[in-house]
Amino acid sequence: MRLKTVREIIFLGARHARPGPRGAVPTGTRTSDSTFSFLAWSWSQWPSAFCHRCALTLILFCALWALPTLAQPPANSAKSLQIYFIDVEGGQATLFVTPEGQSLLIDAGWPGNNNRDADRIVAAAHDVGIDKIDFALITHYHDDHVGGAPQLAAKIPIGTFIDHGENRETSDAITQKDWLAYKQLLATGKYKRIIAKPGDSLPIKGIRVEVISSDGALIEKALPGAGQPNPACASSAPPPADKTENPRSLGTLITFGRLKTLDLGDLTADKEHELMCPLNKIGTVDIYIASHHGFNQSGSAVLVHAVAPRVAIVDNGAKRVVARRHWTLSSLRQI
Ligand SMILES: [Zn+2]
Repeated sequence: MRLKTVREIIFLGARHARPGPRGAVPTGTRTSDSTFSFLAWSWSQWPSAFCHRCALTLILFCALWALPTLAQPPANSAKSLQIYFIDVEGGQATLFVTPEGQSLLIDAGWPGNNNRDADRIVAAAHDVGIDKIDFALITHYHDDHVGGAPQLAAKIPIGTFIDHGENRETSDAITQKDWLAYKQLLATGKYKRIIAKPGDSLPIKGIRVEVISSDGALIEKALPGAGQPNPACASSAPPPADKTENPRSLGTLITFGRLKTLDLGDLTADKEHELMCPLNKIGTVDIYIASHHGFNQSGSAVLVHAVAPRVAIVDNGAKRVVARRHWTLSSLRQI
């Protein structure tokens, strides 16, 4: 699919990832194993030591007036939202810290690996100056999203977990194991828990977090300002239903000032079609955290062309093959 409406595409976690020169805009480059690695984003206060630890962690200091003003943001501005896209090597972990000091982590990466992902998330938290995660949102119960939660909880206090409810993919042994480990964590009684429903607004100070999808259900009404007909629907038939945990992903639209960030977890194309046809219920966004790591089971034209992101961030990894299959260098250059 040609993502002509995406202006920048960012891949995290490719084997040869390296930051580009300061002052450059994000760019895609081809690595020796044909996966796309990275991009560059340049900030005057690039945290080099932290980036070394995390291989590649992109930090966006999101100013109140959205992306055009991001070029030289004040790192310690009281009005800044800070977003850490943490490289968990093909899983997902994104940390938002609001000007009010509240934190929202979306997903906890993989388990195992000698605490690699938990350590990287904690390093990001410490880098931004917090020693507690107020809200940890689990999009769904696959290994690369919830798997790291117990290790993370052992390393840093967490206030509230947010999820979509029960695991619905009990037939998959790894998913069930991860779900039971997460349930055990909740059963300690140390944490509050929110089971989110589409249309909910999550109680995080400083940002508006609207629930778009959860447990297979979707918002029924368009968000304010959205609801326009979606031309991409005319050439797109509804895909067959996906039976895994992916279409049950807890997806959110996070708004800070005029900046909109869309994270639908691993929501699949069948749900994208339901959500975006015939009317675009989301509207346009600035940052699109590519659904399902950019796999072609997600990120269909009816979603991506309609939300028309300014930046797409792909949670890639050295062992992910998504970039080879689904994205092309020419598509980047034709944007
Ligand atoms: Zn995933």
